Amino acid sequence: MLLCFLTYTTYAYKLTKKVLKHSPVKNIILFIGDGMGYQYLTAYRFYKNRVPFKNVGLTSLDKYLVGSQMTYPFDNDENITDSAASATAMATGYKTYNGYVGVNEKLEPKETVLERAKKLGKSTGLVVTVEVNHATPACFVTHVKSRKLMDLIADNYCDEKILGKNKVDIILGGGKKHFLREDRNLIKDFIKRGYAFLDTREELLQACNTKNNKLLGLFADEALPKAIDRLSDIPSLKEMTQVALSKLKNNNKGFFLLVEGSQIDSCGHKNDIVGAMSEMKDFEEAFEVAVDFALKDKKTLVVATADHSTGGLSLGKNKNYYWNPFIIKKVLKTPYFIADMIAKGCDTKEALEKYISFPLTSKEISSVEKAAKDSKAAAILEIIDKRTNTGWTTIGHTGEDVPVFALGPNKDMFRGFHDNTWIAKCFFKLLF
Ligand code: MG
Ligand code: ZN
Repeated sequence: MLLCFLTYTTYAYKLTKKVLKHSPVKNIILFIGDGMGYQYLTAYRFYKNRVPFKNVGLTSLDKYLVGSQMTYPFDNDENITDSAASATAMATGYKTYNGYVGVNEKLEPKETVLERAKKLGKSTGLVVTVEVNHATPACFVTHVKSRKLMDLIADNYCDEKILGKNKVDIILGGGKKHFLREDRNLIKDFIKRGYAFLDTREELLQACNTKNNKLLGLFADEALPKAIDRLSDIPSLKEMTQVALSKLKNNNKGFFLLVEGSQIDSCGHKNDIVGAMSEMKDFEEAFEVAVDFALKDKKTLVVATADHSTGGLSLGKNKNYYWNPFIIKKVLKTPYFIADMIAKGCDTKEALEKYISFPLTSKEISSVEKAAKDSKAAAILEIIDKRTNTGWTTIGHTGEDVPVFALGPNKDMFRGFHDNTWIAKCFFKLLF
């Protein structure tokens, strides 16, 4: 054990020395696919390319794969991380307990890479599809004892300053109910501090043509709907990323942007492969926007990774050697959305026929009809898992290593096998 530790430390030290020789980058974009373990990438590769057998095409992330990272938290009895501990590691370079936000195990606040970027006069942004004050983004901005203190986190976004300025210039995602509360109207306060407030997709798309480089966009009370369930008034992760970049690039000192594919994880928790694949697509399309930006700009480092994996997703189960992505393609909304339609009074058979475009057997239809009101989604999920040979082992997180992708200047710093604190350590080296 000690030998392993020493070996890793020496290895990391050598890499640190190598890093010191590198030149600073102007812009950093970090993509976190929440819950995006390797299995999700493999699944998405089959799903995207519609070729589950020979000559499977790649995802847009694949060619930028540079390594893997460990994700475990600093804890005495848990070695599987939550999003807060993992994001704190990637934001500050310090391991911490599950649930802690931007603080080490002694609850000491630790500087984040976003704060450092702000200190250097760069612009900063957060683009997510859950609440903007949810665990992952919060760990890059503020320092609190628990991810559950969501109102306090939202207050801190507004009140905490670096060199007299708000820490985050572009904040896009969900969570309006935490900003518009009985005890405080944070939206008003943000506007007072010079932000433009947006809450529709149309307003977001128009924001590209305005001069204000500070945006607070909250497009849902809580998390945004899953990508496949979104109606046209809710922006995609890609659209939010595009608008964020159009603003952030106006700072000639550069920027730091966090983009989170937040709900790959939520789908994993719900064991929902349909939602998960739609969230992977949402994430990939946003990543493509950053890749285009970075390839043109040449001074932008893009890193993409996951905080952990979720659900114990497996491609194949019960000794079947065929994972079937075609079935998933034929489900037009998440099973939860379909169950919700049924709960709202839609006939079960009609709802299934409307949103599932492969023929269901009468046994399958009756399994959903017979299911209790609150287990209809589970009954639909079961049909899809059976037809696709998709397996799940948990409704929680899992502890295996996750992929790291990188492109742009200094991308080689991320090559190889690392701890998740390495991401922050490298960013700090580059931000000076
Ligand atoms: Mg998250
Ligand atoms: Zn989770």
